[in-house]
Amino acid sequence: MTDRLYYQDSYLTEFRARVVEASPDQLRVYLDRTAFYPTSGGQPFDLGELGGVEVAEVIDEEERIVHVLRAPLAAPDVAGRIDWERRFDHMQQHTGQHLLSAVLLELFNAPTVSFHLGADSSTIDVAGALNDEQLRQSERRANQVVFENRPVSVTFQHSSGDLGLRKPTERTGEVRIVTIQDLDRSACGGTHVRATGEIGAILIRKLDRIRGNLRVEFVCGMRAIHCARSDFAALSEIARTFSAPLEETPALANAQREKLLDADRTRRKLSAELAQLRGRALYAETLSDEIRTEAQSFTESPLAIFLALVANPPSLLLAVSKDAGIHAGDLLKRLLAEAGGRGGGNATLAQGSLPTPAALDGVAQALFQQPGFSA
Ligand SMILES: [Zn+2]
Repeated sequence: MTDRLYYQDSYLTEFRARVVEASPDQLRVYLDRTAFYPTSGGQPFDLGELGGVEVAEVIDEEERIVHVLRAPLAAPDVAGRIDWERRFDHMQQHTGQHLLSAVLLELFNAPTVSFHLGADSSTIDVAGALNDEQLRQSERRANQVVFENRPVSVTFQHSSGDLGLRKPTERTGEVRIVTIQDLDRSACGGTHVRATGEIGAILIRKLDRIRGNLRVEFVCGMRAIHCARSDFAALSEIARTFSAPLEETPALANAQREKLLDADRTRRKLSAELAQLRGRALYAETLSDEIRTEAQSFTESPLAIFLALVANPPSLLLAVSKDAGIHAGDLLKRLLAEAGGRGGGNATLAQGSLPTPAALDGVAQALFQQPGFSA
């Protein structure tokens, strides 16, 4: 049975121990005593070194603790060293969880169902429904208890007595109890800070509904500082793009979003209109291509004049044979200019467009009155 030094002292970072058993490759090692915390109760394992070898994982096998190493460990007696930054961070999150769970129960009768300490943030699953305002109140109350710097103590009591726990334990015999003075008593094997002030700020983050429970994400201590810092960096970046003070960005972002939706609606409308216009233009072009071919073959014969009128869009095409005595381009250009239209061409082929069907009619009438034309 491994003697768990962290049960008595969470602040112990250096210890000596004897190797009592090891795997043949000496990568999995059992010690007579250890300060390394193995993954259990929602709290992840410690990192550090054993005999100068890096510890990769620490596993709880109930009676004993196995240390998984990155390299073989040959020495029978070893010095252990715990990665204190990681350990203390875990202590802050874990005691923070006990405190927050106790406050949620005290204020809103919402019991904690489970706890998970993650790499970036931690979560507690709470039974029942809590609204945003209730969570803000809980956060405020939890931080007040932090400021009061209440002692956190560890005791061992027998399960036969009245333990007065927040949540009943299934453990029998000696039970390890973590107490936050005048607030919480929990059966727990985790590592904890000695007073609530060491937790630092407790910051509630996002909420998710998971299987009928409420999942509350939170961060404590330096994690809360990191979160606030990165939130501020992200918001400042947004404010810079708006060239506006931070507090005005939510309204600005909303207004921009509305504008964007509006612009998108307009764009859709315009592109539909454009597609229609393209279709019509293509149709008109195809028509005039056909007419042009027809006109050119018609005017290969002597003394020929070919006039085509297109109603929509109002346009016309004039082709003449070389011996017709008419310069198609010059003639049409002059008549079009008089009627407010546009166009022109060479001696034998010309075309143009007019603003209205009436103007087209006018040009046609004028053409028929030209010498060389006979209606
Ligand atoms: Zn605990």
